[in-house]
Amino acid sequence: MDAIVIGSGVAGAVAARCLAEEQGKQVLVLEKKNHIGGNCYDERDAWGILIHKYGPHIFHTSDQEVYAWLSRFTDWYAFGHEVVARVGDQLIPVPFNLNTLKMVYGEEQGARLEKKLTGTYGSGSRVPILELRSSRDPEIQAIADYVYENIFLRYTMKQWGQKPEDIDPAVTGRVPVVLSYDNRYFGDKYQGMPLDGYTPMFEKILDHPNITVQTGTDGARALNISPEEGQVYLEGKPFPGVVIYTGPVDELFACRYGRLPYRSLRFDFEHYDRPDYQGHSVVNYTVSEDFTRITEFKYLTGQQAADTTIVKEYPFAYTGAQGEIPYYAIQNPENQALYERYAALAGKVKNFHLLGRLAEYKYYNIDAMAARALHLARGLQ
Ligand code: UDP
Repeated sequence: MDAIVIGSGVAGAVAARCLAEEQGKQVLVLEKKNHIGGNCYDERDAWGILIHKYGPHIFHTSDQEVYAWLSRFTDWYAFGHEVVARVGDQLIPVPFNLNTLKMVYGEEQGARLEKKLTGTYGSGSRVPILELRSSRDPEIQAIADYVYENIFLRYTMKQWGQKPEDIDPAVTGRVPVVLSYDNRYFGDKYQGMPLDGYTPMFEKILDHPNITVQTGTDGARALNISPEEGQVYLEGKPFPGVVIYTGPVDELFACRYGRLPYRSLRFDFEHYDRPDYQGHSVVNYTVSEDFTRITEFKYLTGQQAADTTIVKEYPFAYTGAQGEIPYYAIQNPENQALYERYAALAGKVKNFHLLGRLAEYKYYNIDAMAARALHLARGLQ
């Protein structure tokens, strides 16, 4: 083997393919779970509904190169994802946009406020809620208060255990106030779902004569990293090839400086013997309930069925207990400093590379992750 890749999610699978195909390396992919695809993994449930086992993943990108690269392995169900938030009796479009403005303020007042907003920020612009909140205009402040109270505050408390102003602004900035009538959740040029699902796409990415995949194998356990010696050991023997690690970096070093904090999620799936549950792919619960959102899969995937499956997401603080999955890095200066200490240990080993949401302690989307994986792999000669 010339290269070992630990993890077969977006980061691991894309990097493995690139090393195998563009550099002719023999690549061994070790995956702890009993399936490939990481948290993008999808499968049919007991009723034949295609579900995302680890929560909804919607592909979107403006990166032509990534889109073209992934399109080698899948066709797409062109799908413009829309989200609504349940606020009292109303379902309002999220991100808060000009349609939402008119629903909340009515046609006449809404039209006046639209002029003010577009005059201030520009038509079509995307304004982070924290920026809108800093406006000195009392009417814009009132809109910001509405959006903050009804869309961000409670959802963010559930998701992160902290108020919007206390988390990294880039997180709430993912869902800005949008000054257009486009109800889609994302503003990217390409949006959609792999036509046959994510798992077949990952199968194709990893289907290469130079790639061997071993699921149910905890690569982190098979490896021993010695920063002092600048050496990686694989099952006790020095391994001189490329190693790409996509798991949590603290666990590689037995959490010697303390655990890196992550948010985790519990997914409660429910199946209903009727064609429709909520009429929308995703409904966010921004002012009520303990779960953040309900996803109804058939509206994401376009699947036709006489029955339906949904999932509710309950966030909680990851503790590292057996069976828990870390999903989101909690980015703040303190956690970043802790991360840097671990990254510095890993950095002492020249053939060892950290890649991905967990290993890099970052909030990557699928497309950015794929771009980063290609970039890293192409730089490893
Ligand atoms: N958010 C919110 N209310 C919403 C949607 C998003 O407060 O209705 C905030 C929340 O802090 C969330 C962040 O914006 O974690 C990013 O949302 P996104 O939908 O991008 O999260 P993901 O799908 O990655 O979990």
